[in-house]
Amino acid sequence: MRFVLRCKPGEHGERRERVAIVGAGPAGLYAAGYLRCRGFRVTVYDQNPEPGGFLIFGVLDIHIDKNGVRKGIEELRQMGVEFRQETRVGRDVMLGDLIKEYDAVLIATGTWRSRRLRIPGSEQEGVLPAMEWIVGYHMWRYGYRAERPPVGRRVVVVGGGLTAVDTVHVAKWLGAEEIHLVYRRTRRYAPAGEKGFREAEEAGAIVHELVTPVEYLGSGGRVAAVRLQRMRLVEQPGEKRPRPVPVPGEYITIEADMVLEAVGLIPTPPFNGGDYGIRLRSNGTIDVDEYKRTTREPVFAAGDVAHGPSLIGPAMKSGLEAAEAIEKYLNGEIGWRTDV
Ligand SMILES: Cc1cc2nc3c(=O)[nH]c(=O)nc-3n(C[C@H](O)[C@H](O)[C@H](O)COP(=O)(O)OP(=O)(O)OC[C@H]3O[C@@H](n4cnc5c(N)ncnc54)[C@H](O)[C@@H]3O)c2cc1C
Repeated sequence: MRFVLRCKPGEHGERRERVAIVGAGPAGLYAAGYLRCRGFRVTVYDQNPEPGGFLIFGVLDIHIDKNGVRKGIEELRQMGVEFRQETRVGRDVMLGDLIKEYDAVLIATGTWRSRRLRIPGSEQEGVLPAMEWIVGYHMWRYGYRAERPPVGRRVVVVGGGLTAVDTVHVAKWLGAEEIHLVYRRTRRYAPAGEKGFREAEEAGAIVHELVTPVEYLGSGGRVAAVRLQRMRLVEQPGEKRPRPVPVPGEYITIEADMVLEAVGLIPTPPFNGGDYGIRLRSNGTIDVDEYKRTTREPVFAAGDVAHGPSLIGPAMKSGLEAAEAIEKYLNGEIGWRTDV
């Protein structure tokens, strides 16, 4: 996988301006490739032991060639991109220091927190956020963590997106005997699509559509079953997908000793909301304009932290667009947004 697009290495000579990129996922890596190619001095800060973001620690290797990703990152290193791994901005380095030290800063920190259902019984042992669990699996698999992630014998996976389908695969690989995938709409309306649901079934999951968990039942502080409410779909004028609404009085219960919630991801900017004058939108994404400029000069933002959870392609495109805008800004071709 190459991270150098729309530019030939070395063709633009060296520049003296320095750019900090926070986050080494596809958005940050494509931006790094473009900017380094254009001669800028690029430093990438990332909290993980290895660059790649979800390309390495989220997406499964049945869906992406990880050696290809690693080769692409090595190419960036050879070109002179500096990587500072295990450096969490907001804890180990402050964003304010990067703003002072660099000519431009690009935030590409993605969505590294799971949304939770917070229903009764959620606090019990065995109820876990799926994305963090998958990241833990990759950390263990690649030798960064000694502990193998825990897995139940009977696992319920909640959700209808790519993370939910991948959770089914990982649960199977780690030895779960029975896996249930529960989703509140039908597969037709699921973010993972009918293809994703077929893949989950082929991996051995029993799929339950039109149900949503309302309580995790347990014994001795550990989850033992999931109580699910039946749902039906109601068309909403102006909305793309029908809305799931409860069918009163209709419930099913599935026995489970582990529940993995894959019900959405939350943007994780590397600062507390409101700090540095960087405005967030009501959904937690960073407010950027058409040039990916935030409300604080010279800070840009791209990828899932700016447009919400998406896919590799849109994250990559957004990173490239931000890099082109940073180049224009450092060339003096554009100034800062005036609506701040
Ligand atoms: C389990 C899973 C499976 C997926 N499968 C697919 C798939 O099959 N196909 C597809 O197209 N998409 C898939 N996606 C989505 C895709 O991976 C993301 O949309 C994409 O990686 C987002 O890119 P990004 O660069 O914005 O952020 P990310 O890839 O999330 O990278 C952000 C980086 O920033 C780092 N970071 C966060 N906060 C800080 C901080 N404060 N300081 C320093 N570093 C920080 C993170 O550790 C990470 O390395 C999947 C996602 C998940 C979770």
